[in-house]
Amino acid sequence: MSIDETVAANCRRVREQIDRACRRAERDPAGVTLVAVTKYARLEWVRAYCDGELNGAQTFDLGEARPQQLVARAAELRDPRLRWHLIGPLQRNKIRAVLPEADLIHSCESLRLLQAIERIAGELDLRPRVLLEVNLARDEAKHGFAEEALEADWDQVLSIERTRVEGLMAMAAHADRPEDSRPVFRRLRELRDRLCRRSPEGLPLATLSMGMSGDFEVAIEEGATLVRVGSALWEGLA
Ligand SMILES: *Cc1c(COP(=O)(O)O)cnc(C)c1O
Repeated sequence: MSIDETVAANCRRVREQIDRACRRAERDPAGVTLVAVTKYARLEWVRAYCDGELNGAQTFDLGEARPQQLVARAAELRDPRLRWHLIGPLQRNKIRAVLPEADLIHSCESLRLLQAIERIAGELDLRPRVLLEVNLARDEAKHGFAEEALEADWDQVLSIERTRVEGLMAMAAHADRPEDSRPVFRRLRELRDRLCRRSPEGLPLATLSMGMSGDFEVAIEEGATLVRVGSALWEGLA
């Protein structure tokens, strides 16, 4: 099979899985956005994804884990249909470069980082959109706000004016069984609901970024609005 055919077949399979999970959860598939994670994909695979199966689509959501790679690829693939998502750690010295290119930063992992984004956004006259990453797996190696810290810091988050905090992101610990991720996804949704009750009406926190290739169906059942899928889209390519 050609690259185009392989990517198209993978994409169809992932879309069917999304639709099935939505049916089980009685959700509208329009409420779930597939973010194609391109961090292990070659440029030609990404091109096949954007030109092939989804031809006619108005927009493509692509996710990169490294700020430098996001900036480089956005430059290589200049295309107004693309929306770039930063899903991996953001070092403070990369904020200035990535803000103009990223449509959504999923990985705002501390109040300090949020405040740095706010300050630089002011200098660049931008209104960035961010999600707050929560470390629910309590994994020392993972990034993100501790659940209690985010609740404690919430009034300070609400004092941020320019940066739009649109929701939460989490990663489950790697598990062989997707069901093992369910408690983490459920806790992220419940945390979001608690924070919403403490927020003014204009801050709906509508976005929940959760679920990867191994567990995105479970994440959708638990309310994910963005799923970050990499390897399942690039299967069979090398
Ligand atoms: C790599 C990555 C993904 C995609 O992982 P797959 O298992 O390949 O789907 C999702 N989210 C984050 C934060 C990642 O770094």
